[in-house]
Amino acid sequence: MTAADEAKVLAATPTRLLIGGVWQDAAEGRKFDVLDPSTGSTLVAVADAGPEDGIRAIDAAAAAQDAWAATAPRKRSDILRHAWEAVQERRDDIALLMTLEMGKPIAESLGEVTYGSEFLRWFSEEAVRITGRYGVNPEGTGRTIVSQHPVGPCYLITPWNFPLAMATRKIAPALAAGCTVVIKPAELTPLTTLYVAQLFQEAGLPDGVLNVVPTTKAGALTEPILNDRRLRKLSFTGSTAVGVKLLQQAAVNVLRTSMELGGNAPFVVFEDADIDAAVEGAMLAKFRNIGQACTASNRFLVQESVADEFAEKLTARVSALPIGRGTDDGVRIGPLINEAAVKKAEDLVQDAVNRGADVRIGGGPIDRPGTFYSPTVLDRVPADSEILRTEIFGPVVGIARFATEDDAVRLANNTEYGLVSYVYTKDLARGQRMIERLETGMMGLNAGVISNASAPFGGVKQSGIGREGGFEGIHEYLSTKYTMTPSPFA
Ligand code: NAP
Repeated sequence: MTAADEAKVLAATPTRLLIGGVWQDAAEGRKFDVLDPSTGSTLVAVADAGPEDGIRAIDAAAAAQDAWAATAPRKRSDILRHAWEAVQERRDDIALLMTLEMGKPIAESLGEVTYGSEFLRWFSEEAVRITGRYGVNPEGTGRTIVSQHPVGPCYLITPWNFPLAMATRKIAPALAAGCTVVIKPAELTPLTTLYVAQLFQEAGLPDGVLNVVPTTKAGALTEPILNDRRLRKLSFTGSTAVGVKLLQQAAVNVLRTSMELGGNAPFVVFEDADIDAAVEGAMLAKFRNIGQACTASNRFLVQESVADEFAEKLTARVSALPIGRGTDDGVRIGPLINEAAVKKAEDLVQDAVNRGADVRIGGGPIDRPGTFYSPTVLDRVPADSEILRTEIFGPVVGIARFATEDDAVRLANNTEYGLVSYVYTKDLARGQRMIERLETGMMGLNAGVISNASAPFGGVKQSGIGREGGFEGIHEYLSTKYTMTPSPFA
């Protein structure tokens, strides 16, 4: 990638708000800088929406709702399909844009283009498969008709770690279901959403169906939107702390909610596992997205008899990870998103080391421009370490050892989160026991990556409510209506 490639994609990216099909400045005229985390330099300035803009976006979504809901499913499907095609045509540009604003290596950004755009294709296929049912009541005196309807205007809030996929995972099912949306991308990474919104316009999406409002004042923008009676649904992906606050706010209007929140994934390796496969899976589950994924394995629980072998092999792999700016060839580890993320990793590692953990490799920030933290492996992490309780969101492995299957289950479930769990074992019955015993919304059984547009993504406990993707995903944006009518033979 050359500097000219970077300048070209930045020049092609809208930097204003999209409201009612019109790209426009914020009402108060404010802008904010979007930074490159690998250098700290400014990429572009983006319009900074205020509460007034948020309400205008809801006006636009509400005005477009009835016509969009009445649009033929095949037409909605075709627009999503055209948007998928447009993303394929621009995949290199979108990947570069994501790397610039978020820092991940280009190869991973290309992977996210594939994964993230797949929601557009999957839900273009689902848009024409919304069904209901017709039945006879047990008494035989009536007929029951169950039908599905779009919930109405939706407000979508996304995080910075997967700038494309977190947006498409919400926009695509909402549009497929016949809902209009207002999306607020993360302040740190608004560019990918703005770019893709432009592609939706090219794909023929009517004005007002998709509105985009980047902001530096998430709370001030959001409150009046959630209080607006025309809004019907909030879909949020982000931290559990913010999710809890939004659920409280959403209660005022009894909004439908989908909550994709934080995780604390256990990665359990049993002594009967294929250790090489477990190491391979660990590299993916931990180091994808530089450890900044809700699905990132956060606690490595390894059976005592194989823990040394696992730790040694994993450390050897970690020592070979190329570090650098995400745009450079072959880089696997880019910068963390900001200084706060580096400080968090530093504090968690220091706490574990103070309590007695062994540092096998890494253990601190990297002395170079940008916000880099060295890939780290900690072994024999004591049970009371903060790192076993807190979402790390960085390239740090913490290994704790266990003796029996019951211990593994107890340790794995010892968290308020329940998003994803990884289990490595060659024993089929043990694998099945883990499916039944682990408190988790998703599981990788001998697999280090679980995300797929065709599967229902989501958590239990404080990891969230609802599912994104799969057959389930569109139902988050549909409400069920039941009609009783007398038997036609009465
Ligand atoms: P975050 O701080 O909770 O922010 C997420 C989004 O919420 C951002 O757009 C943020 O805006 C916005 N926000 C923050 N405070 C708000 C408020 N008072 N009202 C309305 N919106 C508000 O999380 P993050 O640091 O961006 O993302 C990392 C977290 O997301 C991790 O916990 C991770 O596990 C979770 N995550 C979960 C999933 C999943 O599917 N379960 C997927 C990815 C990430 P600003 O950017 O302006 O602050």
